[in-house]
Amino acid sequence: MSNLNVHTKSFILFTYTNNFIYKHLSFIIFSINTMEWINFNQTQKTKYFSSRLNKGLCSSLKIERPDDFKDFMELFKNHPEYSTKLTNVVDLCIVVNKKNHKYFEINLIKSDKTVDDISYRICISLKHKNKDLYEALRYSIYEQIKEFKNKSRLICVKCKSLENIHIDHVNTFKSLTDNFLRNRKDIPSSFDNTYYNSSMFKTEDKKINDEWFDYHKENAVLRCLCRNCNLTRKKK
Ligand SMILES: [Zn+2]
Repeated sequence: MSNLNVHTKSFILFTYTNNFIYKHLSFIIFSINTMEWINFNQTQKTKYFSSRLNKGLCSSLKIERPDDFKDFMELFKNHPEYSTKLTNVVDLCIVVNKKNHKYFEINLIKSDKTVDDISYRICISLKHKNKDLYEALRYSIYEQIKEFKNKSRLICVKCKSLENIHIDHVNTFKSLTDNFLRNRKDIPSSFDNTYYNSSMFKTEDKKINDEWFDYHKENAVLRCLCRNCNLTRKKK
């Protein structure tokens, strides 16, 4: 009888300890799910997201790893081309890195089932000086990029690859915006949100929006580049 008591006691203790661990573990998991990583520094963020990526292959993050899905989608809001790149994204998948098979990469799945790659590291490392302004500038000329893409043969002008074709500015986007913005006194400091939660010019800033649209139309030289050629070009 006393033996049983000892067993019962240790069982209760065991259950109690388990509950304790469970509660605390779920607290840790819960706090991470509330996007605590947003306050991490760059190194911590990189570690956090690379560990999520390296959990392995996944055909639907949204279904199989919904918390990771939420985290990555939140992180991608920091992508320099968020407004165009994340359009119509419905899910994410993790595949083997095409260049180095030892690594994984994360891909965007669009509503038309096409897949596009994205660098999560860019979303962590980029300094966001004037992030909203540049998003708004990108958003204004998005139609021009789309039009160019629609009428172009999607083949890389450098290496003739047909994969991951991006529309690239020959004279860089940065030099175009620098030239356009130089000495302007009417650069807004607040913006509206697009449907995809990036920034766009407010209606009252129609003047700068339209002038930028025309300036870009006149001065931008566009071309098709594959992702690898695009990444290896100098961003200056
Ligand atoms: Zn190429």
